[in-house]
Parts: sequence; structure tokens; C-alpha cells
Amino acid sequence: MMYQSTRNSAVKVSAAQAITQGISREGGLFVPEEIPVLSAEELRTLVDADYVQRATCVLGKFLTDFSAEEVAECTRLAYATGRFRSEAVAPLHELETGKYVLELWHGPTCAFKDMALQILPHLMRVSAGKTSDGKEIVILVATSGDTGKAALEGFRDAENTRIMVFYPECGVSEMQKLQMATQEGNNVAVYAIRGNFDDAQSGVKAIFTNPEIGKLLADNGKMFSSANSINWGRLVPQIVYYVSAYCDLLKSGAIAMGDPINVSVPTGNFGDILAAYYAKKMGLPIAKLICASNRNRVLTDFIRTGTYDRNRDFYTTTSPSMDILISSNLERLLYDLCGRDDKAVSKMMADLSATGVYTVPAEVKAQVEELFAAGCCDDEQTADTIRQVYEKYGYLCDTHTAVGIYAYEEYRAQTGDTTPTVIASTANPYKFPASVLGALCAEATGDEFAKAEQLHEMTDAEIPAPLSGLRGKTPRFTDVCDKTEMRAVVLNALGITE
Ligand SMILES: *Cc1c(COP(=O)(O)O)cnc(C)c1O
Repeated sequence: MMYQSTRNSAVKVSAAQAITQGISREGGLFVPEEIPVLSAEELRTLVDADYVQRATCVLGKFLTDFSAEEVAECTRLAYATGRFRSEAVAPLHELETGKYVLELWHGPTCAFKDMALQILPHLMRVSAGKTSDGKEIVILVATSGDTGKAALEGFRDAENTRIMVFYPECGVSEMQKLQMATQEGNNVAVYAIRGNFDDAQSGVKAIFTNPEIGKLLADNGKMFSSANSINWGRLVPQIVYYVSAYCDLLKSGAIAMGDPINVSVPTGNFGDILAAYYAKKMGLPIAKLICASNRNRVLTDFIRTGTYDRNRDFYTTTSPSMDILISSNLERLLYDLCGRDDKAVSKMMADLSATGVYTVPAEVKAQVEELFAAGCCDDEQTADTIRQVYEKYGYLCDTHTAVGIYAYEEYRAQTGDTTPTVIASTANPYKFPASVLGALCAEATGDEFAKAEQLHEMTDAEIPAPLSGLRGKTPRFTDVCDKTEMRAVVLNALGITE
């Protein structure tokens, strides 16, 4: 199976190339030429399989230039070597009949990004072996908080690889900042930038696609790649957990083969929900894809109106990993829904960067409405949801998950649709102890760890060891740079002079 660029369908690369390169040279994103099918027959064989086997089956369908052994080895190293604190890797938690939370935060950094970033380094190593001629791979990451830490943890001390992470100085939680600043490893660097996530992402994309910088790197035996969800290697592992959740529902008898489910996904860059869309296209019986946003409701408005308009105020919210106004992966959906019309996608993306707005054709809007429902909530509604879920079910969820639950509840109330629904739980509540404590109406005092302790005493929910273990660690990375300096910072760190 080959991959093509959303902005130039004539560009065709293998999966290995798509993964090592990260983004196509003209700025487009790589997508598979066609979406492989997961038959009911195959799905049935996965019901009694473990997560590694489920992942091996799904990944094998997309990574056709990997041998079966290579795929199996990557999934084993990622999911069966004790890096996840749950044997199920991504367990389903039933809140009530028909309402399930898919816990995606049992990995080393306590957010769902681990689901992909624990395997991406292995996929990258195998891919580089096929394509990169021994060049050192330089991973550049823009992060709204969770990707950065998960990528650092995944790639730390990976052979022949360096990783640099940029995060918005005032746009991440204290716990997230500490996680990144204390990162260990000999090939890692972390920078705060004066700006928001979109600035960081645009800066990184600009460096990636600059031919002059690309040449400088090549001349120095290096090449860039990406660990953001613009990289296909990030998306494909995310398809797995929707398949896995469906298998778990079958296994528990909650549904029968072929029964539809809905999914509700707290969304920022549109990666996680796009993976659910691909799972649906593979044949997984997903009915509605509920796209949940915080106060930065650019996607809610897009799904409801067909116009994407980023010209609006940017809000810093209690769900910072979704504080995004440019949702990169929407481009992949548009490409698919426009009948793979690279010209149409290029035009919309050019409009987005020139004016901040684009409108999709009526037939695309109709498809979007058919596939998706959209909902959003502000910080107060997020906090109310955390409290209500805790009071009703004794279940403590984080701010991002709460946005997903809110959007689901609202959708259900408005439509009366009682299809069993899986809500993606994207972070452990202790990543955001101040907001979660506040939601439970508790006066928060002291540092992040005191707050975590207080939350633990109130709720008895377990504090994940990777978070409590940060206490007393000395930050290694404290540099802050302007968004205009990113290019110089990168070249400098690589010891490349212009
Ligand atoms: C990244 C992130 C999201 C948003 O995921 P996208 O793939 O960017 O849509 C939601 N919640 C948390 C906790 C995250 O880290």
C-alpha cells in the first residue's frame, strides 16, 4: 500500500517513507491510498486476542512494507514490556450500561499520547532502516503539553535519533511543565516559546518544509521527522484502540457483532477522532463520531456550519491540550471527503493560511454532518461534569475527558440516541490536579504534589507513580525562546552553522 500527499496526489511514498519523512515536502499530509478492510470474520478472531495481537493485526494492514515479524516486534516492544500500568493497555470502564470510558492514559506519561508514542520510535527505527541511509533523525515536536512529554519518553536515548520539543510557555499545566523540564536522556532538548500552541506548530511546520534548512541538515548527515500527529506513524496506532474497545464490548456481551457504537472524543488537533473515522472506514461499526471541544470551539462551528474560521479569540482553558485553533488533521478528512481532490485541499489550506478561513463545498458539508456530531463546553461546564461524574459514578476524570463526557451527554439529550457510546479518556486526572480539585469544590493549596495528595485523600483515586515520582526532581530544561528564534535554536542545537 502506498501513501499519497493531501496536497499533491502524485506524490507516492511507502509507509516507511511516510513515517521517516513525517510530512510531504509541499506541506501536505500523507494518507493511505485506500483504507484497508477489517472484516467481521477478522474482528471475531480479535475478541479473545490481547492488545498486542489486536495492534499487530491493524498495523499490519497499513504498514505493508514492514514484514509481519517487524510489525509484531514493534507492537510487542511498545505494549507488552511493562510500559503500561494496565495489562489491558487501554481498558474500558463502564460508567453505566451503554456508557463507557476508554482509558488511554495507563502509559508512562499518563496521557493518551503514549498509545502512539510508545510505538512510534520502533516504527521509526524500522522505517529508517529501510529508507534513511543511516542519517541521524532529528524529531521536532510542537506540543500543547502531552505530546511533548510522551515523545520525549518514547524517543529518549533512541539510537541515531535526537528530539527537540517546543511548548507554549504559558499554555501547559504545572505538572506538564515539570514532566518535560525534568526529562532524562542524552538526546533530548526542551524549549518553552513565547506564544501559543499554534505558533509552536506553525514554527515547526515551517522548519520542516523549508528546503534550505532541509539541505543544511542533509549536508550534515541528518534529516527531520515529526512525532506530531501530522506523522502517519502517530495516527495508525490510534486506530487500534477503537477496534480494541469494540472487541472488549463484544467480549463482555455488552454488544453483539455488528451492533453500532458511537464514540465521543475530546479533540484538539483532530488526530484522535480522525483515527476513529479511519476505524469506521475499515468497517468497524461506529455510528456517530462526536467531536468534543472546549471553549476554543473552532471545530464545533466547522462541523455545524461548514466554515472553518480561526479568526477568533484564543482561550487558555483548564483542558490545555485542546487549546488549538488550527486542527492539522482535519486536512486528511477533507481530502477523503473531497474525493481525494488535492487541488481543492491545497486551495482550502492556502485560504486558511492567507485569511484564516475556508468553507467546504455543500456536498462535503453534508457528509461531515452525517458522520459527525459536535459539542463544546466552557471551563465551568467542564468542572461541573467532573463533579457530577464523581458524585454519580464515583469515577474521577480529568478535564479533557470531562469535555468528551459533556459533549456526549448533550448529544444524547438532544437526539435521544441511546447507542452504546465509548468516550475517549485522554489523560489521568492527576495531570491537572488544580483544575480537578477545583471542580470538586475543594480549596486547593500548596504545590502540584500537595494538590495531588489532597485529591487522593478526597477520592482515593491512585496517583500514578510517574507523576508522584517527579517530586523533588531538578528541572534540566529552562530555556525560553521567541517563536521567531525557533529556526536558530534548532540549528544551533544541532551544531550547524549557516
Ligand atoms: C492531545 C490531547 C487531546 C487532543 O487530541 P487530538 O488528537 O489533538 O485531537 C485531548 N486530550 C488530551 C489529554 C491530549 O493530550
